[in-house]
Amino acid sequence: MIEINLPILSQCYVRRMEWYPAVKNPLSPTQRIRGIAEILDQFELIMLDSYGVLCRGTTPIDGAIEVMAEIRRMGKAFCVVSNDTMTNQAVAADRYAARGFDFSSNEVVTSLDITESWLKTLDGKESWAYVAPTVHPSDELLAGMTNLNGLNGVVPAGIDSILFLAGSTWNAEMQANLVESARGRQFNLAVGNPDMGAPNVVDGRIHIYATPGYFADNLVMETGQQAKPQLFGKPGGTIFNYVAERHGITDPSKVLMVGDTLYTDILGGNAMGFKTLLLECGVYRGTDVDAVIAEAGIIPDFIAPHL
Ligand SMILES: [Mg+2]
Repeated sequence: MIEINLPILSQCYVRRMEWYPAVKNPLSPTQRIRGIAEILDQFELIMLDSYGVLCRGTTPIDGAIEVMAEIRRMGKAFCVVSNDTMTNQAVAADRYAARGFDFSSNEVVTSLDITESWLKTLDGKESWAYVAPTVHPSDELLAGMTNLNGLNGVVPAGIDSILFLAGSTWNAEMQANLVESARGRQFNLAVGNPDMGAPNVVDGRIHIYATPGYFADNLVMETGQQAKPQLFGKPGGTIFNYVAERHGITDPSKVLMVGDTLYTDILGGNAMGFKTLLLECGVYRGTDVDAVIAEAGIIPDFIAPHL
């Protein structure tokens, strides 16, 4: 894994704003609330990010299990909407059960599910390489494509397209080899997890590790790739539309998107016309979120310390 920090994370997002939907901020000022319970009755559907909202790594965030139980008790529809490219609907219920959540597989949609829909329609897989652990839940759909982790990051001749899928076993040496072997070449790029970084707790401290968006950003920066990458997860609209349509939502303002990252959860939710709730217990924990919001120019409807 490649460790980064909050300033680097923000720089990456700022550098790639043209990859994302246009900023569309709420017209009313942001409200500070104590928790989601205060505003639940305003919404028909709650969409929730996973990492930094429900859990850090595989550890649930204090109180999140209880709040989700309360949302279920009230009969409020919800869906976890995560850029988690190691979890698809086939394994989602088990993954969340191991973290203490009782979600059904229909209550979780990930950018891996969206990427898989695309993989099912993809022709010419032999010209594609991908970044992901050599054993991955989508292995059947990835068959025919070249796994770059297994080649220590070196892109073979004959490859003209790269899918950045999952970062958990990708390291700095692999990234350096990727960049070196890509010099002087142009690729089609696709990103299964557009996040630049994700928080995890190691020895009681929050660390931010680079995720596939970062690997793509770094490749583009170092080798002057011209193609705009195709993004499958938040902040792009495909994943949000998929969930909203499944719930029969006709008024986007009746959807609340809850997240911990301005550039994915809040930017994406705002662009859809959803209301947005930024939590301070994830990637921005221990920092002044008002300053981060002012710097980013991406404004949530609500801010709370945690769910
Ligand atoms: Mg998050």
